[in-house]
Amino acid sequence: MSEFKKVVYNEKFRVLLNREQIESRIKELGREITREYEDKNPIMVGVLNGAFIFMADLIRYTELDMEIDFIKISSYGNSKKSTGKVRILKDMDAEIKGRHVLVVEDIVDTGLSIKYLMDRLGARQPASLKFVSLLFKPESVIEKVHIDHIGFEIPSSFVVGYGLDHQQILRNLPAIYVMDEQTKRKKTTYHDR
Ligand code: 5GP
Repeated sequence: MSEFKKVVYNEKFRVLLNREQIESRIKELGREITREYEDKNPIMVGVLNGAFIFMADLIRYTELDMEIDFIKISSYGNSKKSTGKVRILKDMDAEIKGRHVLVVEDIVDTGLSIKYLMDRLGARQPASLKFVSLLFKPESVIEKVHIDHIGFEIPSSFVVGYGLDHQQILRNLPAIYVMDEQTKRKKTTYHDR
């Protein structure tokens, strides 16, 4: 059975945020961002890979003349823990000097990625540089950063779905899932025997 089906049918993970909750919050974020960037012709910069689904939905709930671009950074590799080292894997194409830039992230965990982007993109002298993240784990923050728009604050567990991966799969899950604590405990007991 595929990992996708195991998550959906075998209750390996539980739903943390369902499709309806995600959609209605993104509608609100779209309205906030529309008000903030009216007549500013912003560039929205999606942070690959995780933000691609969130960004696709978010821009459809904004009523703005805007451009989009993408930047790809890495800090996690295939592990569940941050390595603490951020680097650019694919830079954005647009020139941002003097432009209003809104960076679109899937999740802020330690804050190291956002801090890195703040420094790197800030050095290119945009007219403004702001951040929106669908998810934020306040208990995991190492680097205190200001996130201008947050979709949901969540506990510090590892989540998958709606763009977020586990070893590059499960991005296509339509909701956001977290590994069930009970499932984790059951597994540990089994292995201990
Ligand atoms: P930070 O630099 O804030 O520690 O982490 C940001 C990046 O780590 C996110 O863009 C995402 O790629 C990854 N990340 C952090 N927490 C999670 C999580 O719970 N699930 C998944 N799939 N990725 C995460």
